[in-house]
Amino acid sequence: MPLSPDQQAEIDAQRSETQQTLRATAPGMEKHLYTAHPVLDHGFVRVIDYMGDDAAICQAARVSYGRGTKSVSNDEGLIRYLMRHWHSTPFEMCEIKLHVKLPVFVARQWIRHRTANVNEYSARYSILDREFYIPAPDALAAQSTTNNQGRGAALEGEEADRVLRLLTEDAMRCYDHYEAMISDEGQQGLARELARMNLPANIYTQWYWKVDLHNLLHFLRLRADAHAQYEIRVYADAICDIVADWVPAAYKAFADYRMGGATLSSTALDCVRRMLKGEEVTQENSGMSKGEWREFEGVIDV
Ligand SMILES: Cc1cc2nc3c(=O)[nH]c(=O)nc-3n(C[C@H](O)[C@H](O)[C@H](O)COP(=O)(O)OP(=O)(O)OC[C@H]3O[C@@H](n4cnc5c(N)ncnc54)[C@H](O)[C@@H]3O)c2cc1C
Repeated sequence: MPLSPDQQAEIDAQRSETQQTLRATAPGMEKHLYTAHPVLDHGFVRVIDYMGDDAAICQAARVSYGRGTKSVSNDEGLIRYLMRHWHSTPFEMCEIKLHVKLPVFVARQWIRHRTANVNEYSARYSILDREFYIPAPDALAAQSTTNNQGRGAALEGEEADRVLRLLTEDAMRCYDHYEAMISDEGQQGLARELARMNLPANIYTQWYWKVDLHNLLHFLRLRADAHAQYEIRVYADAICDIVADWVPAAYKAFADYRMGGATLSSTALDCVRRMLKGEEVTQENSGMSKGEWREFEGVIDV
């Protein structure tokens, strides 16, 4: 359970207050505001605030005085045009602020996305909770034999039990020692900023993360992708669902052009043209390396 009853009560209180505003609101997003969407065993994603909607993207593109909307289909067409031609600044007019609770090793991947504003829970000031990510059995996978940066089939039986026991025991022992080092029991105790160095990377941290829609979509393109590690992908998937409700036309264009689309090199494009003319194109006569050819075959689905 990621939230304590007190935390849930705070969220409920916030959701029960409404305010009048002249600003544009996105009905699909209002239902997400403040609500914690569970991710992994103790994590969550929740929207703290947002600015803009699909119309705001069009409004910026047209630099219009009012809402600027001509019609929904007109707006959708414009948004698809902007996405298709990488005319990205209108998407930067929408912003989202998220509260995310995530394991530290996931946070290390996430923080590589530099185009966001971050404020993290301070383990210098506060004591971290005894909450560690322990993978569910189906996420407890063996090292992949084909991809050094990936995982293979799930561990089973005694091997799975052994790994789970080691993960849990190590986490608990480290936390016991963390507590022992900071507890005063009449003594001063070690500073929190030092005691935390004993904690493993599967402990949970939290942050507020604010980003514009353009950079968020870039993050989602990389982290909701099958090549991303499962533990960050599930956060990206949860955010995709939120974005689809917030800016449905922009998300649809993103899913079509970025998530579902592909970029072809001029060599690959030339191969497609040759294939369409009936030529038998193989890796050997394609001008591509084996790796490129494998990815190309994946794209054109042969
Ligand atoms: C599947 C996967 C595997 C990865 N493996 C590794 C790994 O093994 N080791 C590793 O270190 N990292 C790894 N990464 C991280 C990756 O290299 C990027 O750091 C991360 O995805 C952030 O991407 P970004 O820089 O485009 O994003 P952001 O930091 O959000 O930047 C967005 C865009 O802004 C521009 N930008 C931002 N800052 C600058 C700048 N200072 N100068 C110029 N342009 C800038 C760039 O155009 C950039 O694409 C991996 C990422 C993925 C998705």
